[in-house]
Amino acid sequence: MELEQTISPEFLLEKNTATVETSPFTPEEFNKYVINTYARFPIVLERGAGCRVWDTQGREYLDFVAGIATCTLGHAHPAMVEAISRQIQKLHHVSNLYYIPEQGKLAKWLVEHSCAEGVFFCNSGAEANEAAIKLARKYAHTVLNIKEPIILTAHASFHGRTLATITATGQPKYQKYFEPLVPGFEYIPYNDIAAVENAIASLDANEKRVAAILLEPLQGEGGVRPGDITYFQRIREICNQKGILLILDEVQVGIGRTGQLWGYENLGIEPDIFTSAKGLGGGIPIGAMLCKSFCNVFQPGEHASTFGGNPLACAVALRVCEILEEENLLANVRARGEQLRAGLKGLAAKFSNLIAEIRGWGLINGMELKADVAVTAADVVKAAIAFGLLLVPAGAKVIRFVPPLIVSADEVDCALLALERAIATLC
Ligand SMILES: *Cc1c(COP(=O)(O)O)cnc(C)c1O
Repeated sequence: MELEQTISPEFLLEKNTATVETSPFTPEEFNKYVINTYARFPIVLERGAGCRVWDTQGREYLDFVAGIATCTLGHAHPAMVEAISRQIQKLHHVSNLYYIPEQGKLAKWLVEHSCAEGVFFCNSGAEANEAAIKLARKYAHTVLNIKEPIILTAHASFHGRTLATITATGQPKYQKYFEPLVPGFEYIPYNDIAAVENAIASLDANEKRVAAILLEPLQGEGGVRPGDITYFQRIREICNQKGILLILDEVQVGIGRTGQLWGYENLGIEPDIFTSAKGLGGGIPIGAMLCKSFCNVFQPGEHASTFGGNPLACAVALRVCEILEEENLLANVRARGEQLRAGLKGLAAKFSNLIAEIRGWGLINGMELKADVAVTAADVVKAAIAFGLLLVPAGAKVIRFVPPLIVSADEVDCALLALERAIATLC
């Protein structure tokens, strides 16, 4: 299998200079038809295998973006190819008006491998968070008797791009021009226990009640910031004491990304509700909202999704989950994560005038650049592309490393060498 093949950085560099046939869809032509909502890097990707992708010029890249923490098993994984081919020939979509065995099997796997007792399926992270917000609001109205429930979320969080989820997202840049926002959200600084206690006390004093606290176990988009164990354990205590629901957004960190199946396992707590998407289908669109039975208050007709939990997406997601287990990928995530962080710390020591900090869990890691240097995360990402390495920023000053969970030791070494060469061009 191609995944096992050793690749040298020299091989990557050689490939970078090769030219093949130009795709009919150049960036210029693409931009004539596709609404411009993304600042795209000027490469056109058309093929992938394992942790590598190729552009239309035939250049090869090590993919440490993985569709932004999504391609759990990399590209063209034989188990995914097999599961998709099998299911598309059998039954790919039917309505949730009927029972869908693949959906039931995936829900069973997720319940047996988490603290959840039930699952609702949708198609994306934002939709999973919408479902969690709606469930928390219904619970607040019908169980807690709160007329205007408040959900607390964190500064620098990211929860999606729908109206409710940009409101939940504690970053004004995602909300600008889309006002009026959805009522019922208040913001607290992340990893700051005094701030959450104060926020709850002052809302209580104003006869507003907190129904839920929604947090990421590790803030991904907001700069790869791991949650503090003591903070989350105290939040769990406060939620228990006050009957507040704890909702964790596991969209980026769930499904093995941190070296544990779920991000909350790194914090020694269990949420009441949590959401999953990105890595769940290994790149096939699927999202899930999972919860404990006590807060499972949805009745038929109250929430739905046409595509949610369809046979194709569920069959593939179940294979992704099974492969995680069968191939003991969590062990690989932990080992490769340590290797990557050690290498990045070496680079931080070498380029200490540029790099401020390395942090992360498993295979979600961030390299923060010094605030007082002009170089941005986007500059590093652009420089790395020229050396055959794909990376993604997490805010202006943090470079995020989220390779497929199958990444090999050689590929991590290769990425580190490419990154070192790229950074050297910026110094
Ligand atoms: C990506 C992300 C989302 C949004 O997911 P979409 O599938 O893009 O809607 C929500 N929360 C977190 C933590 C994410 O990283």
